[in-house]
Amino acid sequence: MSKVFVTRPIPEAGIKALKAKGYEVVVNEKADNRSATKEEMINALRQAQGEGKPFNAILSVLTDKIDGEVMDAGLPTLKIIANYAVGFDNLDVEGAKKRNIMLTNTPGVLTNTVAEHTFALMLSIAHRISEADRFSRAGKYHAWGPNLLLGTDLSGKTLGVVGLGRIGSRVAYHAVKGFDMKVIYTDPKPPPAGGSEFEKEFGAQYFEKLDDLLPLCDFVSIHVPLLDSTHHLINESRLRIMKRSAYLINTSRGPIIDEKALAKALRENIIRGAAIDVFEFEPEITPDLKELDNIIITPHIASATEETRNKMAEMAVDNIIDALEGRTPPNLVK
Ligand code: NAD
Repeated sequence: MSKVFVTRPIPEAGIKALKAKGYEVVVNEKADNRSATKEEMINALRQAQGEGKPFNAILSVLTDKIDGEVMDAGLPTLKIIANYAVGFDNLDVEGAKKRNIMLTNTPGVLTNTVAEHTFALMLSIAHRISEADRFSRAGKYHAWGPNLLLGTDLSGKTLGVVGLGRIGSRVAYHAVKGFDMKVIYTDPKPPPAGGSEFEKEFGAQYFEKLDDLLPLCDFVSIHVPLLDSTHHLINESRLRIMKRSAYLINTSRGPIIDEKALAKALRENIIRGAAIDVFEFEPEITPDLKELDNIIITPHIASATEETRNKMAEMAVDNIIDALEGRTPPNLVK
């Protein structure tokens, strides 16, 4: 009987699907409201080896830092690590290759939800929703006022999409079709000569260099993976070339923005506002940011709808089933 280690409780649909296959499923219930520790993962894998009933699969989440040491604790029976996330910067991809362990992720099923959350953040910061909510609850609302909590329209503004992959494209779709925004974008993959279908359909314009794009944007939305090349992609000097009236939105990964530089830029009105779902030192949030009114902070929930989390669980499970039944899982990370 195959055995699966689930590092943190996930939606029940996923667990049921694994059990329906006849697999033994062990969920690390201790990590319900916090990350699983490396020690916990290693101990669970080693204990199972010691009992003669080792694990064949790990269902991991993005807060699990899975390096070679964790992988070794599951060898030689560990065949697959199925990440319950589209990003996989928490996994040692080369380490897994060396050990012949398959890695998978859950692309696509969360695209729309993350794009919606991106827009929720964009609308909220531009229309000062969180600030207005705090203001109202604090009993400060005494009369309608012509100058009370003035914000900014999205309509007619320029959105810069940094990273035109699945999520970036969906954000561009909402921007153009729903809000009459102009979209400009940058990505290491340039469009084909003569322009892409995307550019034609959305009237979007490609910029090879981020530094050429940033000064033109009223809103900048980040949708790149966390790589060495994207760490601190938005730093102090890039914040300085943005418009003073611009807003920065980040639903990708925290370390892509230098958070200290962001706090400084917001405090000194180098940019007008920011809305972020992810943090450089997650789950810690740079204390300065929490004191500022011109930022909205959500706790890494951009994909957190019931529908999407269930689909992610199903996709991670399907990857495990394929791997354990000798097929190549569809969402193999290469
Ligand atoms: P994707 O692979 O479809 O798109 C990423 C795009 O970024 C690609 O087109 C790639 O070419 C581009 N890119 C890479 N380096 C770049 C750079 N230096 N400058 C500009 N573009 C660059 O991925 P996706 O499904 O759109 O997801 C994007 C990221 O969003 C994921 O890697 C993940 O980290 C993050 N994410 C966060 C949440 C959340 O809960 N906040 C949820 C889902 C995904």
